[in-house]
Amino acid sequence: MSDETASFVAALFGKLPAPEAHPGCDECREFQKGRQIATEAGDGSAEADARVLWRNHLAHVHGITYQGISYQ
Ligand SMILES: [Zn+2]
Repeated sequence: MSDETASFVAALFGKLPAPEAHPGCDECREFQKGRQIATEAGDGSAEADARVLWRNHLAHVHGITYQGISYQ
C-alpha cells in the first residue's frame, strides 16, 4: 500500500493526527475541548467522531484539508 493510499484509508477511518485549532476560532476551540474530553475519557469512537466533525469544520470554514482530502 502506498503512503498516499494509507493516508486516504486513515482519513476514512478517522485515524489521522489531531487537527490544529485555527487561531481565534471559538468553534475550533470547542472541537478541541470536546476531543480532549473524549480522549481523557478513553472513548475512542467519540474521539474519532470529534476529529471528523472538526476536520469537516476546518474544510468548510477555514478551507483547510489534510493532504488534499476533504470531508465535503
Ligand atoms: Zn474553526
